[in-house]
Amino acid sequence: MTYGREHLHQRACEPSELLIRGAHALDPRTGLDEPLDILIVGGALAELGPPGSLPAPPDGDVLEAEGRHAFPGFVDPHVHLRSPGQEYKEDLESGTAAAAAGGFCALIAMPNTEPVLDNAAILRSLIDSARRQARVPVGFLAGITRGLQGAELTEMAELRDAGALGFTDDGMPVVSAGMLRRALQYQRLAGGVVALHEEDPALSGDGVMHEGAVSARLGLTGIPSLSESTFVARDAALARYEDARVHFQHLSCQESVHALEQAKQAGVRVSAEACPHHLTLTDDAVRTLDSRFKMNPPLRTEADRRALVEALRSGTIDCIATDHAPHASHEKEVPFEQAPMGTTGLETAFAALYTELVLKGELELGTLVERMSAGAALYGLPTPRIATGEPANLCLIDLRARHQVGAGGYASRSANCCFEGRTLHGRVVLTLAAGAIAFRAPSPEWPAASPPSPGPRSASTGALTVPPATPSVPPGALTAR
Ligand SMILES: [Zn+2]
Repeated sequence: MTYGREHLHQRACEPSELLIRGAHALDPRTGLDEPLDILIVGGALAELGPPGSLPAPPDGDVLEAEGRHAFPGFVDPHVHLRSPGQEYKEDLESGTAAAAAGGFCALIAMPNTEPVLDNAAILRSLIDSARRQARVPVGFLAGITRGLQGAELTEMAELRDAGALGFTDDGMPVVSAGMLRRALQYQRLAGGVVALHEEDPALSGDGVMHEGAVSARLGLTGIPSLSESTFVARDAALARYEDARVHFQHLSCQESVHALEQAKQAGVRVSAEACPHHLTLTDDAVRTLDSRFKMNPPLRTEADRRALVEALRSGTIDCIATDHAPHASHEKEVPFEQAPMGTTGLETAFAALYTELVLKGELELGTLVERMSAGAALYGLPTPRIATGEPANLCLIDLRARHQVGAGGYASRSANCCFEGRTLHGRVVLTLAAGAIAFRAPSPEWPAASPPSPGPRSASTGALTVPPATPSVPPGALTAR
């Protein structure tokens, strides 16, 4: 599985010329953990040196970054960009701007659009759109089944040829084991990853939250953990039998972690992701009946949350994914039972996890940073690194900066964020994606921006480019939203 940048798409941009002076660079994969000057020339990390040692690039900017942290750019393997068909919630431009504002330098979009991304023509048209609109590189998963209906497989080989990174019916489970078995047989031939939303509809029923003490008290229909974990166990067994490559999406409960652990110990080619909301919140939050806390899978118990954090720490769960799921306010601001499931997450993911896990001693900062980009390799994409010669894929974050998550001010078109009202630590100052500035926070430290000029694809980095950034969040939005 050695495809990479050709499976990611974005609009043309100017390769960055920039000196980041004195940032604390932390890249657990390369062992880097020290203050450095980072010189970016032609969109590539040209040189790393002790603070104050490197010259400004002749035609570039200098960013005084002492006290800030530079991390490898984050990669989100699970985002709903809502295009085509639901652009009132999000589109490729707004969704990738939200990603950049959250420190992400690449993302993978889900196919549960209208129409569903289940054929090569739709995929080609989305790739065209991404080449015009996307501020950070985007890859696409196509449906496993036509219309995500679970009845008929898509043309998986054709979709792979057209550029699909893999397949998922996310939002819906593949209920028929026979159907999934056939998909796994095709996956072995076509390549790509089969990613699974695990849920048994017969157990979930009309549930709207986790089935437990809180749902009983509220009198709401619950979704038992079994709904997810029995399908994880079943599909791990199918993957083992077919020697297929399966990725479990948004795991939410301890029973699923156990099933995943057993599959990994048996050598099955499985991987998994967990989301910031499942790692930091519990069903206790649903007592407010605020629909921002309604998502699928649902927020579960403290024991589940702890099991997820421990699995993330140990590497049993491989990576963080936001499952960024934008919804319009008129859709979310209805009684809890009627509201659609999902929370936005791109712009709050790092700060939420840093505040709730790292600052509270549940997770090391280096582990969090590694898991924030570990989704790339799972899909055969290059992993961002802070090392000489690498394309500039990094984010600069002020860990000391606090902000209250507000009701608005997002780069995303939607504001249904489950962290609204919380005070979070860690503000993204700058995101470089594929060699270009994709986001920079309005800041007095910046010199006047050099005028944008449409640049060609960078030969030295293979960068597929974004124009020099204009701030995508209004001034002040990050401190007072
Ligand atoms: Zn999803």
